[in-house]
Amino acid sequence: MDTQVMLRQIIRSDIQAMTAYAVADVPLNCIKLDAMEMPYRYPDELKTQLGKLLAEAPENLYPNPATSGLQEALRQTFGISDAANIVLGNGSDELIQLLTMLVAKPGAKVLALEPSFVMYRHNARLFGLEYVGVSLNQDFTMNLPAVLAAIEKHQPALIFVAYPNNPTGVCFERDEVQMIIDLAPGIVVVDEAYGAFSRDSFLPQAGSCERLVVMRTLSKIGFAGLRIGYAAGHPMVMQELTKIVPPYNMNQLSLAAAKFALQNQNWITQHIDILKQERSRLSEALLALGIEVFPSEANFITVKVNDAEKVFETLWQNNILIKKLHGMHPLLAQCLRITVGTPEQNDAVLNILKNITTSILKPN
Ligand SMILES: *Cc1c(COP(=O)(O)O)cnc(C)c1O
Repeated sequence: MDTQVMLRQIIRSDIQAMTAYAVADVPLNCIKLDAMEMPYRYPDELKTQLGKLLAEAPENLYPNPATSGLQEALRQTFGISDAANIVLGNGSDELIQLLTMLVAKPGAKVLALEPSFVMYRHNARLFGLEYVGVSLNQDFTMNLPAVLAAIEKHQPALIFVAYPNNPTGVCFERDEVQMIIDLAPGIVVVDEAYGAFSRDSFLPQAGSCERLVVMRTLSKIGFAGLRIGYAAGHPMVMQELTKIVPPYNMNQLSLAAAKFALQNQNWITQHIDILKQERSRLSEALLALGIEVFPSEANFITVKVNDAEKVFETLWQNNILIKKLHGMHPLLAQCLRITVGTPEQNDAVLNILKNITTSILKPN
C-alpha cells in the first residue's frame, strides 16, 4: 500500500483535520507583542551568574524534579500552603493536558468559558472528552447563571477558569469563581497564568479544598523559554496527577534556571511593577484614541476597534506584531490583543495608532 494512503488510514481523522498551533515566525528586530512574553532580560551581572550555574548543572544525569528543590522554592516565594502538593509541568500547557487525561473517561465532560484559553477545548477533544463552552457576556464578564446551569446540566468532571482570563484580560469576580468551586461536581482548575499581574489569587486556598487546583507558570513573568508551570492542590488530586507525569518531563537546565529566578525575585517584581504601570498608561492612551479598552488584570490589553484587520496590518507594516482575535469567536469580533511592552515599545504602538484615522479605530 502507498505509504501516504496507509498514514491517512492509521492516523486519527480528527487530528488530520486539525491545524498546528501557529507560532509566529518573526524577524528578530520586530516588536513582538503577540504572546505575553516579558520584554525584559537579565542585566549582564545576573546573566553571568546564571551562566555559571547552568554550566554546573548535571546535564549527564536525569533530572529529579522532586529533589530539585524547586517545589520548595515556589512554596517559599509564592506562599503556597503546606496543605498543598505541587506538581511541576513542562509549561502549564503540559499540566492542562495531564489534568485532562486524569479524567478522560468515556462520556466525561470538560467545561470552560468562551472565549478563553484555546488549549482547554483542544485537549478535551484530543483525549475524547466532550467539551462544553459557556459564553461570556458581551463585556467579557462571567454569565454566572449560565455557568451554574451548565454545571447542573452537564456535571463536568473538569472545569477550567482562567483567572484573569485570556484572551480578554478581564478578571472574573472572586465570588463567582468561588461559587463554581463550591458547586462543581468535579475538579476546578483556576488557571492563574496572569496571577502576578492581578489584584487577586486563589493560590493561598490551594490545598484547602479537594476540588481546587491552582495552576501557575513562570512564562508570563520573564521565563517563557524555560517551560516551567506548576499546579498546587489537595494531595488527594495531586497524588493521582503525579502518577501520569512523564518521569523526566522537566530538564536540569530549566530547573536550575528557575530556582535562580526565584532567588532573584526582586528582579521579577520590579519588572512586573513597571509593566503594571505601563498597562494603565497604555490603556488610557488607547481609550483617548477612541478605542474600546477592556479592563485588564493581565500583562496584555484587549481592545475593540472598527477595523481590526486594518489596525493589525498597519502595525505589522511598521514591524509591530500583535494578536488579531477577530475571527476566533463571535464575541471577539473586531478585537485585538496587545501585550504590554517596555515604555519604548508601547510608545511605538501609540505613535502608529495616532496616525490612523478615528473611523478605523472607534468601534461602531
Ligand atoms: C500562556 C498561558 C498558559 C500557558 O503557559 P505555559 O506555562 O507557557 O505553558 C496557560 N494558561 C493561560 C490562560 C495562558 O494564557
